[in-house]
Amino acid sequence: MSRIDLHLHTTYSDGSRSPADVLALAKAAGVSALAITDHDTVDGLPDALEAGARLGIEVIPGTEISSRHGESELHILGYFLDCHDPELRHRLGQLRASRHRRNPRIIEKLNELGLALTYEEVKALAGTDSVGRPHIARVLMERGYVTSAKEAFDRYLAEGAAAYVPRELPEPAEAMAWIRAARGIPVLAHPSWVKANGAGLLKLCEKLKAEGLAGIEVHYSTHKPQQTAEYLNLARRLDLLVTGGSDFHGLTKPDIEVGVGRGNLKVSEKLLEPLKKAAALH
Ligand SMILES: [Zn+2]
Ligand SMILES: [Zn+2]
Repeated sequence: MSRIDLHLHTTYSDGSRSPADVLALAKAAGVSALAITDHDTVDGLPDALEAGARLGIEVIPGTEISSRHGESELHILGYFLDCHDPELRHRLGQLRASRHRRNPRIIEKLNELGLALTYEEVKALAGTDSVGRPHIARVLMERGYVTSAKEAFDRYLAEGAAAYVPRELPEPAEAMAWIRAARGIPVLAHPSWVKANGAGLLKLCEKLKAEGLAGIEVHYSTHKPQQTAEYLNLARRLDLLVTGGSDFHGLTKPDIEVGVGRGNLKVSEKLLEPLKKAAALH
């Protein structure tokens, strides 16, 4: 029985490996099918599909959309998407643009509070396209405005603090509707990230299912055995599909490897057939 990996990031979002590199790593790990699920983009899929065809690995077109969940985020994976769907591409483009609008607004607020720093400095320190609040915190530390990242967040950057700017995120229902409209299958990513379990998680998943959710990422690199068991029960109880993946990012998460996660991840290829059937029903 060969393994699959339905959650992988590349240089098209915050991963450090190109799609072709990820496919080569998958080949070496004995992965027979995989999904590239870059954050808020489908732009890496043509490269991945090309490499997959060359190496004999099935590539499922995917994405991972960040949506709003109260104070935090809920990530929705989409599988078997039509990556040329113009509406999906437009929506994802807007999400990416909102990331780039947020940072300069935070800097503006800090400047108004009398803290001298520029977005150019923050970008230079980050050194990647994926710039966020941790980088702003580091510049604040370097300038001596705060003594720790925690202080930077507590005083300025955290929700409710002086320079906080909320991210513009879609509701989960919207994200799932975009995926469905592009003939994709929406799946709740890493349920362990959701600050709920037991009855709370059941209620959330019931609501998400009513809004279009089709599956749960039961198998995940950092899930403990009892979590995997809980999510498997949940999926069975709500008649949701079961998926799994490593959430490989390369250097950003150095302990996670393609296909095997931290070494004990095993996502069976048997999970693929029900997912394909659901996709074909669209
Ligand atoms: Zn995620
Ligand atoms: Zn991810």
